[in-house]
Amino acid sequence: MMKILIVEDEKKVASFIKRGLEDENYLVTLSFDGADGLKRAISGDFDLIILDCMLPKKDGITVLHELRAAGNQIPVLMLTARAETADVVSGLDAGADDYLAKPFAFAELQARVRALIRRSEQDRGADIRYADLRLDPVNHKVWRGQTEIVLTAKEYNLLAYLVRNAGTVLSRTNIADNCWEYPFETFTNIIDVYINYLRKKVDGNFPTKLIHTVRGQGYVLSDE
Ligand code: CA
Repeated sequence: MMKILIVEDEKKVASFIKRGLEDENYLVTLSFDGADGLKRAISGDFDLIILDCMLPKKDGITVLHELRAAGNQIPVLMLTARAETADVVSGLDAGADDYLAKPFAFAELQARVRALIRRSEQDRGADIRYADLRLDPVNHKVWRGQTEIVLTAKEYNLLAYLVRNAGTVLSRTNIADNCWEYPFETFTNIIDVYINYLRKKVDGNFPTKLIHTVRGQGYVLSDE
């Protein structure tokens, strides 16, 4: 049974999500403030965390920063008050795997929960290699040569998709369709945001750049 932690101080919203997810056979734990949520997130054995942005005691972004700083890579779905780029970007920056703007329909939340859990369950195969890049699909670890590169779950999935299609130019639509498993609407610059994160981590300190922009077309992973 998949275990989900919901950190949300609005009790009505929290119990609405809890009931919906329990109907889907998830085991749900509720937490109503950031400090308690962080403690539970670190000590509990959860498959996913749904984390509100505005929380008493410790806000969602801080919780997420501290969780990632502690080496915890549990997938996190951030809830934001509005679909504002600034909120979303700071959430992603802190290591969220996805976000959802309030108010949302339960079906939308459910689709994202499923997609995130499927991703974290996925891939039990051999290492994926390209140039000096190596991806371990079981533990979602990445190396360039001997240097380990620490990625969030979402960044890992995007990189894995680029590596599996190395040498092929991928449009933003290709990337959205393959790396985001729910209908992708207006916020397509989220892909550019993620590509920039990946670039910093994967190419930042290395002389050979692997992630390239093809103007007007999209992105390609290549060592040429
Ligand atoms: Ca709140």
